[in-house]
Amino acid sequence: MVNPVTEELITSVEPVDAAGVDAAVRRAAKAFESWRHVSPGDRARLLRRFAAVVDAHVEELAQLEIDNAGHTVGNARWEAGNVRDLLDYYAGAPERLCGRQIPVAGGWDVTFHEPLGVVGVIVPWNFPMPIAAWGFAPALAAGNTVIVKPAEATPLTALRLAELALAAGLPEGVLQVLPGHGEVTGHALVTHPGVRKICFTGSLEVGRQIMADCAADLTRVTLELGGKSSTLLFADADLPAAAAALPGAVFDNAGQDCCARSRLLVQRSVYDEFLSLLEPVVAAWRCGDPRDPATGMGPLITAEHRERVRAGVGDARVLMRGEAPHGPGWWHPATVLAAGAPGEPHWQQEIFGPVLSVLPFDDEAEAVRLANDTPYGLSGSIWTRDVGRALRLARAVEAGVLSVNSHSSVRYWTPFGGAKQSGMGRELGPDAPLAFTETKNVFIATS
Ligand code: NAD
Repeated sequence: MVNPVTEELITSVEPVDAAGVDAAVRRAAKAFESWRHVSPGDRARLLRRFAAVVDAHVEELAQLEIDNAGHTVGNARWEAGNVRDLLDYYAGAPERLCGRQIPVAGGWDVTFHEPLGVVGVIVPWNFPMPIAAWGFAPALAAGNTVIVKPAEATPLTALRLAELALAAGLPEGVLQVLPGHGEVTGHALVTHPGVRKICFTGSLEVGRQIMADCAADLTRVTLELGGKSSTLLFADADLPAAAAALPGAVFDNAGQDCCARSRLLVQRSVYDEFLSLLEPVVAAWRCGDPRDPATGMGPLITAEHRERVRAGVGDARVLMRGEAPHGPGWWHPATVLAAGAPGEPHWQQEIFGPVLSVLPFDDEAEAVRLANDTPYGLSGSIWTRDVGRALRLARAVEAGVLSVNSHSSVRYWTPFGGAKQSGMGRELGPDAPLAFTETKNVFIATS
């Protein structure tokens, strides 16, 4: 594991091979036999204890993520706190996982939400802690056992969370973390016949492969994939507020965010005015030492990823470029590009770096057409003071998660996931535990 700020080796982690995955699935299957029978109240108590132990280690986990992923100190603390909050929230689920009693002739009919068994959670490197917990917290609450496969570059916080789970009293085998390569460890997990569901977050290419691999055993699968999300900014919006909010929506985490609003569609009549409001905010967005609380974003995750981001920018026309440190570290400045036409590669491709592409539009219909002109459909923002238009656009933009006059995307209380090729299925929100269950219907004859 290499620190993306200093380029120094932090530590090495032994990858788990296919035999190791097989042994882990067997342990998880064995643990499932007792975990599923832990009474709802006791399972809830254990998850609350796990949350309390995470809470006591927020600072340690945050420091680990700053070293391993270069996240800013504010973000890293929020991410560790998010794991605690998810555990607390889903600790409420075991005692509320109610089935139904359905009126039928000749007897009683009842439904049960049965846990699936062993669940695999495959995690990308951009938000190692929250994305692992979006999977494991509701899955554990519903009575499953879980194996997390963290990304190659960022396994350290997930490994520590597994230790904290044991310290909190979760039985051995209930939550395991297996570091390793996607094509080896990840593939072995996806294709293992003992795994009943895969919860995958990552790239579209790998997501497609995983869906195909899951077909063999009809393994359930949830996919959270890439995005190319738009801000649709109308002339009647609060332009200074929109300008102030935009850098956070696209440059946070150095743009390595599936929900990044990497496209800005701005109504032509305010194009110049808005860019002049945006310019000082982009210039003030600081790229540098993640431990400095004034820093807006740290480095990119790896040298290879920085090459990909640079290639994504290519020779596009640069409207604004912020400052970035020189010397060691995989820095990339906040960059704003002009899209001359919607066919330009930087307008179409997910760059996954601190890069914003801007395109003007004339009317509402054109804005919707341009926003929807992508195979992705994850998130987006609508900025207007016209309530009717906001409501029309909220229905017309093809995305799983939209916000109006804000850039909010992920809140653990509400469902999250993508439309079109941004994914399949939903995570988070009150229904997430149900996605880790099978509904069983039982008819009991009374005559
Ligand atoms: P990736 O697809 O390269 O890897 C994701 C995970 O899959 C890693 O743990 C990797 O080891 C594993 N993997 C790779 N090949 C595999 C295989 N054949 N079988 C099983 N597992 C395999 O993605 P990444 O580069 O780590 O993350 C960036 C991508 O993730 C971006 O496209 C981003 O938009 C997306 N993302 C989506 C969401 C969302 O919720 N929609 C959230 C965060 C990131």
